[in-house]
Amino acid sequence: MANGVLILAEVVDGAVSPVTAELVAAATGLGAGPVSAMVIGSGVEGAAANVAGVEKTYVVDDAALAQYTTDGYTTAAQAVAAKADPAIILLAQSDAGRDLGPALAYRLNTAIAMDTIGLEMKDGKLHTTRPTYGGNARAVNGFTSEPAIATVRPKTFEPAAGGSAGAVEKVDVDLSGIRTKVLSRDVAAAEGVRLEDANFVVSGGRGMGGPENFDVIEQLAGALGGAVGCSRAVADLGWRPVAEQVGLTGKVVSPNVYIAVAISGASQHMAGCSGSKNIIAINKDADANIFKSARFGIVGDYKTILPPLIEAIKKEKAAG
Ligand SMILES: Cc1cc2nc3c(=O)[nH]c(=O)nc-3n(C[C@H](O)[C@H](O)[C@H](O)COP(=O)(O)OP(=O)(O)OC[C@H]3O[C@@H](n4cnc5c(N)ncnc54)[C@H](O)[C@@H]3O)c2cc1C
Repeated sequence: MANGVLILAEVVDGAVSPVTAELVAAATGLGAGPVSAMVIGSGVEGAAANVAGVEKTYVVDDAALAQYTTDGYTTAAQAVAAKADPAIILLAQSDAGRDLGPALAYRLNTAIAMDTIGLEMKDGKLHTTRPTYGGNARAVNGFTSEPAIATVRPKTFEPAAGGSAGAVEKVDVDLSGIRTKVLSRDVAAAEGVRLEDANFVVSGGRGMGGPENFDVIEQLAGALGGAVGCSRAVADLGWRPVAEQVGLTGKVVSPNVYIAVAISGASQHMAGCSGSKNIIAINKDADANIFKSARFGIVGDYKTILPPLIEAIKKEKAAG
């Protein structure tokens, strides 16, 4: 009988991604049996031995998996699922997780709940909570099929506090049927902390007036050790890269502090940041929608507000 929780531990640049510890915490918190991990990729055996807090780590290590492809990873994950026979599979709501999850659910003839922000067991079955209607409502879903698969929004769960790594078991998979060939890969240049991982995100909107004015956004993000985001209006205008867009059709972020500068707060933007622990809005229009979601708000022109704020943060940091 299916038992336990299997998580996908993604390996990024040779190391287990930080969100893995959050998945371990989520899986352990369910109390639904032993927690195991799967690691998929090429040259990932070393990383597989470092997944903390799980009983066992299944690894599919094959040169054919050097690049993420839907059919390669789905075939590998399906083989691991057949071996582990979990009742629940958890993945991060990451680029890989949001693509692999539905494909795996299809192959396993089961259902998936995407972008969940809450997980609990009721009568032995997984129930998930996920934002819906652009973050304005929450849907709770139960599963009638097994394994129950869910992707979990990063920064929803506190990371598990370490623990020892589990035994590593190699799974051999026939990958000769992979139909996708990655010919080239363009990685958007990104400096500093990743938007999805940042504890502080400073986003600028159309009210910034032009790309040249984003230096204050960069300075504020830099002073806080955070990342820069933007609204879709800004990305559409070509002022900032699309990779920085936050929202329904951009990235979903859940930092401790989200600072929205000159952003009106359209529902499609809020869908990407409403999970933030604190939202601080700076807008010259006191009636801007963003103030409805903000914990703290400053009404005024960002040009007069940001420079002294950046100086004050730098001074505070320098003083220790
Ligand atoms: C299907 C769909 C998907 C979408 N997906 C997304 C998405 O993923 N992300 C997203 O962001 N949007 C998305 N949008 C667009 C969204 O509806 C808004 O149009 C967009 O978020 C507006 O961006 P903005 O707040 O930067 O600009 P605006 O709405 O133009 O707001 C600019 C704000 O700046 C303020 N301002 C101006 N000057 C200053 C100043 N000097 N100091 C302080 N404040 C100032 C103004 O008061 C105003 O509130 C989507 C729309 C659709 C239809």
